[in-house]
Amino acid sequence: MSVEERVLIAGAGPVGLTAAANLVRAGVPVTVLEAGPDLSEESRASTFHPPTLDMLDRLGAAAPLIAQGLKAPAFQYRSKQHGVLAQFEFAAIADVTGHPYRVQAEQSKLTRILYEQLRERSEFELQFDSAVEGVTQHPAGVEVAINRNGSRETRSGRWLIGADGARSDVRRALAIEFDGFTWPERFLVVSTPFDFRTVIPDLVAVSYVTDPKRWHFLLQIPGLCRVMFPVASEESDELALHPEFAQSLMATVVPGVMNYEIAHVTLYKVHQRVAKTFQQGRAFLAGDAAHINNPLGGMGMNGGIHDAVNLTSRLIEVWRGTKGESELERYDRQRRQVTLEYIEKQSIQNKRNLESDGTEFRRSLAEIAADQARTREYLLRVSMIASLRRAQELG
Ligand SMILES: Cc1cc2nc3c(=O)[nH]c(=O)nc-3n(C[C@H](O)[C@H](O)[C@H](O)COP(=O)(O)OP(=O)(O)OC[C@H]3O[C@@H](n4cnc5c(N)ncnc54)[C@H](O)[C@@H]3O)c2cc1C
Repeated sequence: MSVEERVLIAGAGPVGLTAAANLVRAGVPVTVLEAGPDLSEESRASTFHPPTLDMLDRLGAAAPLIAQGLKAPAFQYRSKQHGVLAQFEFAAIADVTGHPYRVQAEQSKLTRILYEQLRERSEFELQFDSAVEGVTQHPAGVEVAINRNGSRETRSGRWLIGADGARSDVRRALAIEFDGFTWPERFLVVSTPFDFRTVIPDLVAVSYVTDPKRWHFLLQIPGLCRVMFPVASEESDELALHPEFAQSLMATVVPGVMNYEIAHVTLYKVHQRVAKTFQQGRAFLAGDAAHINNPLGGMGMNGGIHDAVNLTSRLIEVWRGTKGESELERYDRQRRQVTLEYIEKQSIQNKRNLESDGTEFRRSLAEIAADQARTREYLLRVSMIASLRRAQELG
């Protein structure tokens, strides 16, 4: 088989396009195959953590993202009964990141920024309406079968990155198991232009509110606040998507405030799953194709971007001949382990904290907030800097 000298990437989401940007920056030719007719408009991730911004900065994408987003230098935990339980400021870790804040912006802003920057480059090619359906591996390369508007084509490359999301066809074609579980409840995200600071004066842009029955978070993005609630398994999808249901949940946020203007409502199933391996020969999984988790703490896309940068930095070295193929094994070793140890564990713990009665959580938050060293350690963990350090330690 003659192999095209390029890297194939399935999926033009935030992870696939970050991978493409890092490779193209190093002069490695890339073809991105995207199933959809255009970049996705879906409103999902809206939080970019400090080390992710540091990575995007090296790709020239942080400044335009910040310009279109909202800087959140602090986040807080609240309870309906006690108000603010604790507030954490990223300034405490300004010595280890160039971006001591979260940026609140939709993931669709990042994909458009990256695409606009990449499309000028001769090493970059993106084909829409091109779903990867099959993968065949050879000693020197990988061949993918593509469904392009009903007709079948093939493309080859030296490596393949499956960044084709949670239902990854690449993962399925490689027969890699996706172990884990699905939570019985679903999450409802209600977006409103209502400015909650007019009724909660001490509110910051990122706020998590504990409650055993209806915890929620309030995440500000430019022009909108996203409020997310759990929907119990006994509450049907039909009920959950009824406009009155969203209004009834929103009415629990601030007593006496109701009849919100609602921009959109989306219901999500929530999973915790990690692929059995992130590498099979010349094919790799990254982002949601490799791992999914609940959105509390905003770690799914951020972790996926960390995967993309880790993997492509190694591919660049092998491409240039400065490292041997065995360098690529470090990707699975590092990223899979920190996904289990940090992303999965922390996102499950975040959910447990919010749905608890708050007593124990309040005590532990007070202890962390009262101790500078523990506050720093906590901020390093929630900002995902600790997971990146751990990945390095894994060698
Ligand atoms: C409500 C909600 C809130 C969230 N908030 C956050 C947050 O604040 N922070 C955070 O880090 N994460 C968050 N997440 C998770 C985040 O949205 C995902 O982790 C992120 O989208 C993963 O990016 P990706 O590029 O791996 O996959 P995707 O964004 O799913 O992109 C995959 C792309 O692949 C394409 N594709 C699919 N199949 C094929 C195929 N066979 N061939 C070619 N292309 C294909 C798709 O069309 C899509 O364009 C949230 C998720 C939800 C549901």
